[in-house]
Amino acid sequence: MDRMEKLIILGGGESGAGAAVLGKVKGFDVFLSDAGPIKPEYRDLLARHGVDFEEGGHSAQRILQADLVVKSPGIPSTAPLVEKLAGKGVPVISEIEFAGRYTDAKMVCITGSNGKTTTTLLTYHILKEAGLNVGLAGNVGKSLALQVALEHHDIYVIELSSFQLDNMYDFKADIAVIMNITPDHLDRYDHKMENYVAAKFRILQNQTKDDYFIYWQGDPVVRRQIRQIQSEAMQMPFSETELPGSAAYVDDGIVRFRTPQEVWEIPRDRLALTGLHNLYNSMAAGLSASLLNIRKEKIRRALEDFEAVEHRLEYVATVDGVRYVNDSKATNVNSTWYALESMTTPTVLILGGKDKGNDYTEIEPLVTEKVKAIVCMGADNSKLLDFFGGKVKEMRDTHSLRDAVAACREIASEGDTVLLSPCCASFDLFKSYEDRGRQFKAEVRGCQGVPGSGNQ
Ligand code: ADP
Repeated sequence: MDRMEKLIILGGGESGAGAAVLGKVKGFDVFLSDAGPIKPEYRDLLARHGVDFEEGGHSAQRILQADLVVKSPGIPSTAPLVEKLAGKGVPVISEIEFAGRYTDAKMVCITGSNGKTTTTLLTYHILKEAGLNVGLAGNVGKSLALQVALEHHDIYVIELSSFQLDNMYDFKADIAVIMNITPDHLDRYDHKMENYVAAKFRILQNQTKDDYFIYWQGDPVVRRQIRQIQSEAMQMPFSETELPGSAAYVDDGIVRFRTPQEVWEIPRDRLALTGLHNLYNSMAAGLSASLLNIRKEKIRRALEDFEAVEHRLEYVATVDGVRYVNDSKATNVNSTWYALESMTTPTVLILGGKDKGNDYTEIEPLVTEKVKAIVCMGADNSKLLDFFGGKVKEMRDTHSLRDAVAACREIASEGDTVLLSPCCASFDLFKSYEDRGRQFKAEVRGCQGVPGSGNQ
């Protein structure tokens, strides 16, 4: 290099700060810019590594001199500055793409509309328990770039959103996983489903015949797209019942796995994570581990002893014989469908929040079958009250967590489950879905008078 290449990082969150440190380590002239405030922990990290940065606005002139730009997934490609950079022909890449250039580690990459985090954490858990030197990265875990800069891992398990995939070009996944594709985030894709699907399928780009592609065979969108693309990767689909080519499926209560490395099985009722959706998540994780040559005994043990992930069908406590379950992460209709599907008792369902244009007909049959009462909890519950009014025995209109839990306590009787699986985003009453889930847990445990009843 005659002169130091100018690397501009847009966005100072986990991925941006990590990319900045990696850029510095690799000898770039790095400048990070964030339109909003940067969290103190990231400011400290940048300062420790001597990275020049600004917050609360972009210095366009300096940014436009970039040789290379790493853009945070939160910034759309239609942001004026990003459009200007693209117009000048400056490459704009994601943090994962950037980090991938500086490591030979094996990459297990997981995407989908629902189930990414659970499958990523479960896969990581299996590999770690098996003694591999593995890192956890992407949407969950630490920045991949930061780990590549400062640590050494032989393998990474990475949760990838479509936004990250949008700016990935040369990166290759050794194992690519697509859990499912249902409409989400369409505002970032010109409201065209095909654009969103194409973004998810970027996870397959650059794969060769030595790589693997794991996907859910039951997903019509995924199946249709597979017929339209060319991929050399070896396909390892999973399904609830055996279909042609299934590499994992259930047969008479036994989950069977068939990979080139190993043929093995585990009784379904031994899986730590319950519910149909978690069967899929367990199959995807089990297949990945098997393809990495992990011994079946180790995979089995790890699938059995994994602890529930916070806010995803997380058992909170039993109060007066009623089980309380926190599924605050269910911010769309599809995830609530899976939560309801897994219910085995009469259910009091807490629904509501910021509605992103939901169509509740998808969950109507399950609601009719399993839900004895709906407690609405949102700033404005009118759409829910209109839709479900008359379809369940009882409905309540509440506007705070405290009132919602109080209503549930009145309605639920011994043997029931109270399920917080709101179908909606949380921003009308809470800071985030985590905030909503934690407040719910605190409220429930408060009723019980015994704090910290632990996970299931
Ligand atoms: P993501 O990271 O893709 O948002 P999570 O693992 O955080 O996914 O799960 C989010 C919600 O989606 C959970 O509350 C659960 O109800 C539902 N879910 C989990 N796995 C799946 C799956 N494989 N298919 C459909 N829904 C799922």
